[in-house]
Amino acid sequence: MRKKIVAANWKMNLTVSEGERLVQDILDAGLRLAEDREVIICPPFPYLTQTRNQIRNYPHFYVGAQNCASEKSGAYTGEVSAAMLHSIAVDYVILGHSERREYFQESGELLRKKISLVLENGLKPLFCCGEPLEIRESEGQQQYVQRQLEESLFPFSEQELSRIVIAYEPIWAIGTGRTATPEQAQQMHAYIRGAIAERYGNEAALQVTILYGGSCKPDNAAELFACPDVDGALVGGASLKAESFVGIIRHI
Ligand code: PEP
Repeated sequence: MRKKIVAANWKMNLTVSEGERLVQDILDAGLRLAEDREVIICPPFPYLTQTRNQIRNYPHFYVGAQNCASEKSGAYTGEVSAAMLHSIAVDYVILGHSERREYFQESGELLRKKISLVLENGLKPLFCCGEPLEIRESEGQQQYVQRQLEESLFPFSEQELSRIVIAYEPIWAIGTGRTATPEQAQQMHAYIRGAIAERYGNEAALQVTILYGGSCKPDNAAELFACPDVDGALVGGASLKAESFVGIIRHI
């Protein structure tokens, strides 16, 4: 069956020593993770190797980058390629986060290129989708997310899809303290799984891990994870403290 995952997105937070301490505290919590569970830690680029080394002997732990370049290599000052991430043994790459879409104008087409490079280099994309508040208020969220899937995900084959994790992150819930209700999350996750079933068939859809993201905390994780189509969470703010991140992982 599909994997259950809790992923930490540190965004542009923490110094190298703070990051090291945080990872150590998470590892020291003595979590016992079942065979089909994964924890992914996505620190800023400069700490990826350190994090990789720290989790080396912890079987269910993986490391992810928060972005990568949309080109293979060359004169793109400041960019980090998928091949570079592969060369330092990164496992996952977050793509399509709403902050990248909004502040760096990342389009669906650009994200398709990035997903392609990530897959080509043997890494797994953690693809984010989700609607802004005004779209939710006009009840257009399903069409909005459908378009994001069609633009960036559905060009890929079933075999490629099997290496992709999806995170549904309603923008109005990210960093706002306003979580989607379990009903809202389940409804959208079921919609996404249905859209995948239409494109790739039922079997493929049942295997895709779909995470929820948006103000997930230890005290709302249990009810979110109890939803049949919610397979874990992508966590921002609450991943910056070992206690709250571990508290969320314990519910998976
Ligand atoms: C995120 O940015 O992916 C996220 C889910 O943030 P937060 O948990 O802080 O809402």
